[in-house]
Amino acid sequence: MDLAFDRQHIWHPYTSTLTPLTCYPVTHADGVFIYLEDGKALVDGMSSWWSAIHGYNHPRLNAAAHQQIDKMSHVMFGGITHQPAIEVCQRLLSLVPNNLEHVFLADSGSVAVEVSLKMALQYWHAKGEQRPKFLTLRHGYHGDTFAAMSVTDPDNSMHTLYKGFLPEHLFAKSPNTGFWEAWDERDIEDFRHQLTENHRQIAAVILEPIVQGAGGMRIYHPEFLRQVRALCDEFGVLLILDEIATGFGRTGKLFACEHANIQPDILCVGKALTSGYMTLSAALTTKEVADTVCGGEAGCFMHGPTFMGNPLACAVASASLSLIEEGHWQQQVKQIELGFAERLPLLNRYPQVKATRWLGAIGVVETHQPVNMEVIQALFVQHGVWIRPFGRLIYMMPPFISEPQHLDQLIQAVEAALQSPECFLSDAD
Ligand SMILES: *Cc1c(COP(=O)(O)O)cnc(C)c1O
Repeated sequence: MDLAFDRQHIWHPYTSTLTPLTCYPVTHADGVFIYLEDGKALVDGMSSWWSAIHGYNHPRLNAAAHQQIDKMSHVMFGGITHQPAIEVCQRLLSLVPNNLEHVFLADSGSVAVEVSLKMALQYWHAKGEQRPKFLTLRHGYHGDTFAAMSVTDPDNSMHTLYKGFLPEHLFAKSPNTGFWEAWDERDIEDFRHQLTENHRQIAAVILEPIVQGAGGMRIYHPEFLRQVRALCDEFGVLLILDEIATGFGRTGKLFACEHANIQPDILCVGKALTSGYMTLSAALTTKEVADTVCGGEAGCFMHGPTFMGNPLACAVASASLSLIEEGHWQQQVKQIELGFAERLPLLNRYPQVKATRWLGAIGVVETHQPVNMEVIQALFVQHGVWIRPFGRLIYMMPPFISEPQHLDQLIQAVEAALQSPECFLSDAD
């Protein structure tokens, strides 16, 4: 592969044209393995950012894609419908919390978040109320488009860069009580205070249930979420749950909101929806929200992307959801969780480690110093694994099909990194 061309001309996620870092050339992937151009096999610890839950090159997902592409890859969704869209929405509605009845198919997680925010704004407009604000949590992540970014952590997503253009929303303290710890009632105080003070202005609360992903890999107590739902009900504010990272089994429940036995008014899903094959997302809502939105001035929901309901993506998503319906994920995720629970606490003995945490098929090692990306990445590749840390977070969310030996290999590689001071930046850097 022409890596020099790549370095000179192609932007990768969050990279600089001035100091491009090494990119590893991948030729194919199969099961839990990603293959480099030189033939080396890497055990995947990332599921390509939460998405490839059933692993790569899956025979049933491949078959679904092949069958669909021979019929049609895409047709517009305005005034046209098709079997793949109907089937994937039927499956989705049978899996999500049962108050949700209407599906809006979108093309990426960020767009699903945009759609959910627009739904909430149109909802209140239709009710004749001015509610221009959203309430969310610090350390959240909801995507890179402008509205999604406006409810993402202001420091992490550098709101200062876009000042004057980016809408300013309300941020409550994120919960400190970990999932497995004893609930601390003080965790909800700031959120309650903000909602009490500002609820007449707030269209919706938007947050990631149980696991805050890219904003800090924080895994918090279900009681926080239960109280958020109760407070939203008390103050008549919509609740949007962003399950783009947590949805489809990743946390040990099909949806993370099930840990707290609550239901959202609007739900965003994406990432694992097609098990990483295609880009597809959805925002789902209740009959009450949908009908109110459509009874307003516009007479419809004001959104319609070109590639909405892409049949190829829907067909693969449908096949992925049929694998979910068969239920093997429950045992698979449980086994991965047990592996993390057994192995991660042993890493706390390394001075570099600040904390370890886990839930379902998510394992996190928080370090004192930020990683040296170039060095740690090379060490992981040398150890035959693909793990991509950021800042002070080394985290794993392997495909559900990972076997104990794959998890061993991932954790051993992390341990090797913790024993290598050169993998971390020092205060002098
Ligand atoms: C990844 C992510 C998004 C954005 O999804 P994209 O497909 O990258 O646009 C939004 N919310 C959460 C919780 C995510 O993890």
